[in-house]
Amino acid sequence: MKTTVFLLITAAFSTGFFITRHASQKSKVTKHDSICHVYITIDDGPSSGTTFINEIVTTYGIPITVFPIGKNVYKNDSSINLFHLYTKNPLIETGNHSFTHANGHYHQYYSHPEDVMNDFDLNADTCYITSKIARLPGRNTWRINGRKRTDLADDTASADLLAAGGYAVFGWDIEWRCDSNSTTRVGGNDMLQIVRKISLQKNTFTPGNVVILFHDSCFADSLYRLQFNLFMKGLKHDENFVPGKLSSYP
Ligand SMILES: [Zn+2]
Repeated sequence: MKTTVFLLITAAFSTGFFITRHASQKSKVTKHDSICHVYITIDDGPSSGTTFINEIVTTYGIPITVFPIGKNVYKNDSSINLFHLYTKNPLIETGNHSFTHANGHYHQYYSHPEDVMNDFDLNADTCYITSKIARLPGRNTWRINGRKRTDLADDTASADLLAAGGYAVFGWDIEWRCDSNSTTRVGGNDMLQIVRKISLQKNTFTPGNVVILFHDSCFADSLYRLQFNLFMKGLKHDENFVPGKLSSYP
């Protein structure tokens, strides 16, 4: 299996947040490709950013998919209440991102695929996740309708086991990060242009479909929220963008 390479977008902007995107081969652009299906996915919640996410999704009426993790959900009463903001909002779909998130030890985690499966089962049971939509902790790996892309070789067996268990495993085409030490950042309108560009270039796992990775905790940052609001406004008012939940991914 090939190793995923990430490219850091190096264009600098005065405000905003930098991104990484999956590198793949360029292909020809045609006039039939103007519609861009966009999937906002937000990992590792709930967090202090959750309330904002719930509100802005409702404001714009834009569907999203979240990937909370059980150990964050069951941290305390407050985190359980935040999680319920997601489960009660019909615009928000909940996917499975494991209970432990590998506790940060990814290579060791993926050396025991059965335990990975048990970790996803535990998350489904404790967080009442009924969808069969999954994302591996720390790995940009895909298993969708028989198509596959593997990030690092160590997660191959775990991804295959989840797929055999009926899960659609989603990686991401582009990530909008919020690292405070970054010197290369993009804003909301710039992000819209980049999403459109990689869609037109068919530079995604499925042409015409762009899965964007966000992190729940980023939304605690007021500047990030400001830029995300611009992004959502653009998604809402540009008819070439069609936002959807991952359950509608082809
Ligand atoms: Zn994660």
